[in-house]
Amino acid sequence: MAATLSPYRRFSLLFARSSIAMPELPEIEVTRRGIAPHVTGRRIVRVDVRAPALRWPIPVALAQVLGDRVIERVERRGKYLLLECDAGWLILHLGMSGSLRVLLGDERHRPAGRHDHVDWVFEHAVLRLRDPRRFGAVLWHPRDAGDVLLHPLLIGLGVEPFSTAFTAALMYQRTRGRSMSVKQALLAGTIVVGVGNIYASESLFRAGIRPTLAAGKVSLPRYEKLAIAVRDILANAIDKGGSTLRDFIGSDGESGYFQMEHAVYDREGQPCRVCATPIRKIVQGQRSTFFCPVCQRR
Ligand SMILES: [Zn+2]
Repeated sequence: MAATLSPYRRFSLLFARSSIAMPELPEIEVTRRGIAPHVTGRRIVRVDVRAPALRWPIPVALAQVLGDRVIERVERRGKYLLLECDAGWLILHLGMSGSLRVLLGDERHRPAGRHDHVDWVFEHAVLRLRDPRRFGAVLWHPRDAGDVLLHPLLIGLGVEPFSTAFTAALMYQRTRGRSMSVKQALLAGTIVVGVGNIYASESLFRAGIRPTLAAGKVSLPRYEKLAIAVRDILANAIDKGGSTLRDFIGSDGESGYFQMEHAVYDREGQPCRVCATPIRKIVQGQRSTFFCPVCQRR
């Protein structure tokens, strides 16, 4: 069993250490909301797989198991999209550069480009996966293998930020005795998912917490502020259509790329929007962190 788990673990570490901007939880949620109305309740006519593998091999039986299946719902867990049908779940991850588009009308007949690796063809539409860097994932979890949330890629994920399970008390309990910085604890994704590098800096600024402070030293009232900040920042990003530093193609073919007005992120040397002190940049775990030394005194 350990041998089958290890590739997934390497995958997680790769993402945790990457310094490249990539689709984050808001972009995935925007994608989910974008594709769901077009594929839910719709029957897959066929699946065209043009690449043998992305991060991992694409299951050779994918076309066979999904052909003539109806997509019952489109859900998200962390940064994974879960397309459920009666036989099981299609698990999709957009990696560093992936995007999903829904092609409707005459657009359905547009030839696939060299980075368009998989098409799910419906009668009325084509769901097309593009992934130039091929770090994404297309996996199949059959229903008889048990609940999809028990999949090795999903079972260790932290709670969802918009679920009732995400509370200040949870963060407080899970960090007691931990010397890891509060920013690293957020980024790790094992307590709460979805707080990527941009959102970690922004949330800590909103909560007035110094990113280098040991997670185990943050008080419960300060975690209350942080939990609220995390939810607000992520909800705002989802509302705005997702934010990333890279071009992001929205699910409807429109550009979903949206540069949020950051309070601290990528603003080194510029005046803090609250107190005008120059924003500082440091590196934590090979990732850039931005903060205001006055508003986030400790
Ligand atoms: Zn400030």
